[in-house]
Amino acid sequence: MRVLVTGGAGYIGSTAVEIMRHQGFEISVLDDCSTGHADSVPSGVRFIQGSLLNEKEIAEALMGVDAVIHFAGKSLVGESVEKPDLYQRVNVGGTRNLLDGMHTAGVKKIVFSSSAATYGEPAVIPIKENAQTSPTNPYGATKLEIDHMIHAESEIRNIAAVSLRYFNVAGALNCDRGWLSERHNPETHLIPNVLRSSGETPVRIFGGDWPTPDGTCIRDYVHVIDLIDAHIKALNSLELGVHEIYNLGSGDGYSVRQVIAAAARAKGQEIPTIDSPRRTGDPAVLIADISKAKSILGWSPSRGIDEMVSDTLASFN
Ligand code: UDP
Repeated sequence: MRVLVTGGAGYIGSTAVEIMRHQGFEISVLDDCSTGHADSVPSGVRFIQGSLLNEKEIAEALMGVDAVIHFAGKSLVGESVEKPDLYQRVNVGGTRNLLDGMHTAGVKKIVFSSSAATYGEPAVIPIKENAQTSPTNPYGATKLEIDHMIHAESEIRNIAAVSLRYFNVAGALNCDRGWLSERHNPETHLIPNVLRSSGETPVRIFGGDWPTPDGTCIRDYVHVIDLIDAHIKALNSLELGVHEIYNLGSGDGYSVRQVIAAAARAKGQEIPTIDSPRRTGDPAVLIADISKAKSILGWSPSRGIDEMVSDTLASFN
């Protein structure tokens, strides 16, 4: 089976490529390398350095493909607030082009990287897939619009689709080419920032007055290897004419201070921090209800916060 991995040069996409090719999948990658890195794509993989905004490049990437895993897209909440049009054009417009290209090429299977950002400020914790969706930023809004677009596509064009709503992805994969690490510039994610914290540039704690036990935000972290395992299970679960949505997290929440404590354990030293104002658009608590993925996909994450933090640390060295 040949799978097109869009965004296959990025952090999560390149991890998927590595795991899947070892499981015997044939892989094609489409990535414009705007945030991904061409050196993350291994030899033996068909690599089209191209854009979802270019129909010819999409058609070329879809040649001989049986299914698509669609990671490509803009993914920074803060940037999306500043440049909503860019997020609309690349995420929504790019996915529209991809779905049209799939229709032309006769490719009927897709697994899509959606996000917990589609839910916004949750009314109930943990969050189930049927919770109200009310995104608080343009990034989440584009992911929700794409989920709706894919749903319509399953009804109108009979495609088989799954949207996977990620909570906070962390950790890294060590492969024969070394660690596939998170390489964002600028880095906005908590775990890399905590691990890189120093006396000169201490990590900022965005808000200490949230309605949580220690006053900092709580998030649900899932290891990237567990996350990719869910994608493969989702791929094997696809049914024509059906679009399913699954949350992917650990089902547990960790506060910013608990993550900092895990990083201190991993490094064997205190982490310098500085108290900062709340970050716009941050909900206080996001924890996934993962019972649907567990029962229907037979998926269960097995790596905890200490492994996520220590693997991320190892990937930086
Ligand atoms: N956060 C923080 N300092 C940082 C980065 C993040 O305090 O340098 C907090 C952020 O406000 C949120 C949590 O850590 O409560 C996780 O943020 P991240 O950007 O990693 O993921 P998000 O939940 O926004 O997808």
